[in-house]
Amino acid sequence: MKKLFAVLGDPIGHSMSPVMHKDLFSFYNIDADYFPFQVKEEDLHDAVKGLKAIGVGGFNVTVPHKSKIIPFLDGVDELAANIGAVNTVVNENGQLIGYNTDGPGFLQGLYNYLPKIAGQKVMIIGAGGAARAIYLTLAKEKPLVLDIANRTLEKAWGLIKDCPYAVSSRACSFDEARETLADYDLVIQTTLIGMSPKIYEQPIPLNNLRKQTVICDIIYNPLETQFLTEARLKGASIQNGLDMFVYQGALAFEKWTGIFPDILRMRDNVLKQLGGRTC
Ligand code: NAP
Repeated sequence: MKKLFAVLGDPIGHSMSPVMHKDLFSFYNIDADYFPFQVKEEDLHDAVKGLKAIGVGGFNVTVPHKSKIIPFLDGVDELAANIGAVNTVVNENGQLIGYNTDGPGFLQGLYNYLPKIAGQKVMIIGAGGAARAIYLTLAKEKPLVLDIANRTLEKAWGLIKDCPYAVSSRACSFDEARETLADYDLVIQTTLIGMSPKIYEQPIPLNNLRKQTVICDIIYNPLETQFLTEARLKGASIQNGLDMFVYQGALAFEKWTGIFPDILRMRDNVLKQLGGRTC
């Protein structure tokens, strides 16, 4: 019997996960299908119970339900529990278990640009949900320094205090981040700044950038934010958010099926969907 997979969010129309996963199920001859469901917060518990009752194979969870879903699951793994957010749920013999593949997805994509995090000086700009997943994933990789710059400093300090892994971190303002930019080997932009439609904004100017620094922006619409354009023009290596999106999906697919899928195929598929609306 065909297995059901899904993504829950509100809104959900923009999600590129259905096209990506439907294509993979068909490509690997797996008798399964994947649907987007718009679920209001007050209906989330019922939606999870319904999916469990009908034997869902698994599902993704997106904004705004990544944290709120946790009490409705049968369990979560250690990383997802530390992050406090789930983006992938697997039906393991009738138990719905939550995982977070956002941070590991970012890390896998990053390896194409920076093979090793250990010993590197890293700065994350932003302290929201995505930053939290990336911070806690990178903290396990033993960077020399893992600092956070955020508009709201208390949120950055809160994230640092919540981290169960030993890592040297401090929180700083955007002004300090701009001044100390040359100290870092890797800078990861995770705020909403520069996202379509406000594409002519960036969190900090890059006057002090060294061209050996790798600059990432986890936004993928537009594919090249103004932040990345400035970094590229200054000679730095740049990475947009497409790899993180594709790898988080690949890791979810692997958890559901045991198959680590063809990344290039997924990337092309997402790029096709982004065609015509990249800015
Ligand atoms: P979030 O939890 O709402 O966090 C937003 C972050 O942006 C916070 O650090 C917030 O600072 C900062 N921010 C927002 N507006 C700002 C402004 N005007 N000035 C300064 N700082 C501002 O959002 P999220 O879920 O982490 O998502 C963040 C971005 O990551 C989005 O663009 C999203 O599309 C992208 N993302 C990409 C992927 C991927 O797979 N590539 C996955 C997840 C998310 P405060 O703390 O001061 O409010």
